[in-house]
Amino acid sequence: MKIFPKSIKGRLFFWFFSLTSVLLITVSLFLYHEVKGIIFTSVDRTLHSQIQVITGLLHEEDGRIELELSEIIAGAYSIPRSGHYYQVLMNGRLLAASPSLADENLDLTSAKFEYYDETFRERVYTSVGPDKEPVRIKQYDFDFLDIPVSVFAAESLADSLEMIDMFKRFLLVAASVGILIISFAGLWAANHSLKPLQIFSSDIENITHKTLNKRIDVATVTNELSVLADSFNAMLDRLQKAFETERRLVADASHELKTPVTVIKTHCDVLLQRDRTKDEYVEALSTIKTVSENMGRLIKDLLSLARLDSGMLSPDGFKLIALNECIREAAQLAGPLAEKKSITINTVLKDDINITGDNDRLTEVFLNIIENAVNYNQESGTVEITEARNNNTAVISVSDTGPGIGQDDLEKIFERFYRADTSRSEGGTGLGLSISKIIVEAHGGKIKVESEFGKGSRFLINLPLTLAGMTVLIVVWF
Ligand code: ADP
Repeated sequence: MKIFPKSIKGRLFFWFFSLTSVLLITVSLFLYHEVKGIIFTSVDRTLHSQIQVITGLLHEEDGRIELELSEIIAGAYSIPRSGHYYQVLMNGRLLAASPSLADENLDLTSAKFEYYDETFRERVYTSVGPDKEPVRIKQYDFDFLDIPVSVFAAESLADSLEMIDMFKRFLLVAASVGILIISFAGLWAANHSLKPLQIFSSDIENITHKTLNKRIDVATVTNELSVLADSFNAMLDRLQKAFETERRLVADASHELKTPVTVIKTHCDVLLQRDRTKDEYVEALSTIKTVSENMGRLIKDLLSLARLDSGMLSPDGFKLIALNECIREAAQLAGPLAEKKSITINTVLKDDINITGDNDRLTEVFLNIIENAVNYNQESGTVEITEARNNNTAVISVSDTGPGIGQDDLEKIFERFYRADTSRSEGGTGLGLSISKIIVEAHGGKIKVESEFGKGSRFLINLPLTLAGMTVLIVVWF
């Protein structure tokens, strides 16, 4: 069974209540024992003085020991069952007793021995008095003229015990009221202290997907919550960015798909207006085929992007792969395209570098970059791919003899749907490099491009080396 409440308020109250109870009960017990001790000590002191007085009244008369009774038969001692008693034994036989005892004796047979008072050499007992009331008895033994004498003084504890009992009841009520008051004060304090959290939570509740630009005002929250507010705002920044990227992607994708759909529809409309010759049908259908293929590529890239965005590529699924193999395979796949443009692909792969990664995805990256190098190259140009290990990195360089990329475009070509020169990149989707960037970064690497307009381009990719956790630097020159 769980004793801790689930809510913070409940927990604070629980701790406050427990600690207050323990504290007040301890203090009450301490006070009770102290007061009880003080009262009994005061009774014992009184009894000691009475013993002193009685002892002082003993004297010898005609060879006999006498007690000056007249001096102490006064006040409470003379009233029967008054609660104040004394008796003197000599050689074990009763020499004198206070009239208050009224022919009874101080009963020591059933008395409870409390302690021995070392200072005054007196024994202290509690017992039952002649009136059946609890009594405190002090016994003092000494030799008077070589005869053993015992002086007993006793006092009723009825008043003292009543006083102690009253004090106990007072403590009980005071402690209970104290516990209740302090606990409820604690509950109020907990409620009051948690108010900022409630305000904070209602602020959060007001933020929806439509108001993602809203932020928690860090200046208005308490110090403890400001860290939480900062983290929450940072999370909102990331969410807003992700939402905007998503929204832009959907808008761009719709826009990109709208054009080919319009082209297909227009061609169909024109074809259906009247009867066409066979050549006209062939021409229109081949345009529709090309546009459909572009659309297919776009949809494939969009799917890739969506899967990568959802974190599909995680190191959990990575395997040990030979980087050279990936590059060779990509170069081979780009072969027919290069042949069409009479472009030569030179691959110089000296080192065998293994990395932990996704073979197919990395091949996709290299294929995309090599295909770009072919696509954006001049007729009969070349593509150079080299790979080498450099300290903690492997460096692969692929360069092309194309027109290069303008300075303004260099920073933007990794953005989704960005195409530096749409006329030259016909058939492209503008998504290849952004997909490549995500894949490379998922492998812990980096991709960048260096180019000068008119002098070709070079792409750099950093990937961590297998096992040693080092970095592979792939340099691709176009
Ligand atoms: P695309 O499908 O258009 O090739 P990418 O994302 O692969 O999309 O490339 C984005 C743009 O970067 C291309 O449209 C092109 O303008 C430019 N680009 C990419 N690679 C090269 C290159 N080797 N030389 C010149 N421009 C390039």
